[in-house]
Amino acid sequence: MIRLNLCVSVDVENPQTPLMEKRFAENRLADPRTGVPALVALLRAAGVRATCFVNVCEQAVWGPEPLRAACRALADAGHEVGLHTHPFWMDPQRRENMHQLPEREQEGLIRWGAGFLRDALGDGAPAPASHRAGAYGANAATLRACARAGFLADSSTFHGHPFCRAVPTADDPVRAHGVLELPVSCVLRDGQRVKVDPDALDDARIEAAVDAAAARAAASGTVFGSVSGTAPRDYLGLMFHSYSLGRTDDGYRTLRPAPDKVERLVRLLGRLAARPDVRVVTLREYATARAEGRAATPQTGPGRAA
Ligand SMILES: [Zn+2]
Repeated sequence: MIRLNLCVSVDVENPQTPLMEKRFAENRLADPRTGVPALVALLRAAGVRATCFVNVCEQAVWGPEPLRAACRALADAGHEVGLHTHPFWMDPQRRENMHQLPEREQEGLIRWGAGFLRDALGDGAPAPASHRAGAYGANAATLRACARAGFLADSSTFHGHPFCRAVPTADDPVRAHGVLELPVSCVLRDGQRVKVDPDALDDARIEAAVDAAAARAAASGTVFGSVSGTAPRDYLGLMFHSYSLGRTDDGYRTLRPAPDKVERLVRLLGRLAARPDVRVVTLREYATARAEGRAATPQTGPGRAA
């Protein structure tokens, strides 16, 4: 039976529009109650390793060291550190989406970001493998630039999102422009595509999405390869944001700790990770396995349940 590969991804950043509009002036990634320390604790409690897309472009606001520290804390806890690109902070023209940049500028930013992650994580850390464009604002050039910069996977595609100009696939992973594109997974609600994100869907809808995806994976093939000879349909992404651990009622001018939201995420992720028909893997693990034509194998590590 083919198990469902569930990739949990977290965009690690301050809320972007409120920061652009200067509604707050402190780096909340360092906040022990709502920032990276709280995220690490949450994922540890759930027994889940995630792909954490760190918006290193914010180093233009806070300086490089707080972003390096965030990357190190996530990697030390066993998570994959991926690259999240919001060009706005690095761009004199203040363009918000990657697709607004010419291909050579996108490649320059992606190569710079990969170098930032390598410097932060040090010798011995694996090369950055996964990328997500800020606000899903990628186009085909983004994927080509990722491939040339050595990335295995991109997860910017959000079919139906107004900023997303790269839609090689709606729901299933596909090789496109030299990378494995792992789209933002969505479900239909009232005829609208809604991403599988605890901020957008309640637990029952998320678990129904996992039920459906796990059933589809099991039906899609035998142990190796699939019945039809195409790739097995064995992938689902679940994403949220680092600031989802807090709560705001004033448009992110303030962000309060929200233990109830953290507890909900711990329980939800823990339940999903414990399912016999689900395997939680990072994007790197999934992309590597797909490239090698085998089933993904989760690493053991500090973030993984015993
Ligand atoms: Zn973002």
